[in-house]
Amino acid sequence: MTLLEVRGLGKHFSGLHAVDDVDLDVAAGRITAIIGPNGAGKSTLFNLLAGFYRPTSGSVRFKDRDITGMSPHRTVAHGIARTFQTTNLFEDATVLDNVLSGRIVRSHSTVFDAVLRTPRHRKEERHNLDKAMAALEFTGIAEYRDEIASSVPQEVQKRVSIALALATEPELLLLDEPAAGLTEEETVGFAQLIRNIVADGVTVGLVEHRMSMVMSLADHILVLDHGKEIASGTPETVRTDPQVIEAYLGA
Ligand code: ADP
Ligand code: MG
Repeated sequence: MTLLEVRGLGKHFSGLHAVDDVDLDVAAGRITAIIGPNGAGKSTLFNLLAGFYRPTSGSVRFKDRDITGMSPHRTVAHGIARTFQTTNLFEDATVLDNVLSGRIVRSHSTVFDAVLRTPRHRKEERHNLDKAMAALEFTGIAEYRDEIASSVPQEVQKRVSIALALATEPELLLLDEPAAGLTEEETVGFAQLIRNIVADGVTVGLVEHRMSMVMSLADHILVLDHGKEIASGTPETVRTDPQVIEAYLGA
């Protein structure tokens, strides 16, 4: 089943074609990787899918619904979450509060419920805490729950941002270079975390520089260069594509 369908997607920044006429089908339950040199348009593509940028052209369908140009708030409510290349946590808040912030999008109680602390609101608070704790446990960082986000190691901060995204209960999780800056050993841990996320029923979009990680994880790879697709297919097909070797692997 195709979860996400991208057609002719484009984003221009005053003459620069950051994303240029991109087609992509993301299969449910799979890992789709986007690779390409620096400035190829990978993060811009994620921003278009998650609503942070409005496309200049083309369309995005998610679960057979047109979500083209929707705001991030609405796309996340529909089930698309993304993490960022540089983690964007609330630095002075605790790890738990950061992850709890992901629950806002799933909240139903009104301001009145909150002010009056109605039973409905208290029930929802307990539910949100359970969900946030589950996300912390899933990502292996429950022991850091009461630490200030900026004070925990970089690897943990990266896990917090994934936990925050998971707390929104996404169907599609877009991970933008989750392993950047990590050691080889930490990267192995992140690859396993990504496998666990998929095993849990979440479809993953992955932008990643580390070829070994991409090749071992991805079911499907889209290769971008200067905003355009230069190849797409299985890791085997992409790895041996002459254009990819020339443009990207430089070998
Ligand atoms: P990648 O993630 O593949 O390294 P990006 O998607 O971040 O590449 O960037 C693609 C191109 O678009 C780059 O040339 C970048 O400078 C440009 N770009 C990205 N965001 C903006 C923006 N908000 N305004 C202007 N140019 C941008
Ligand atoms: Mg990027």
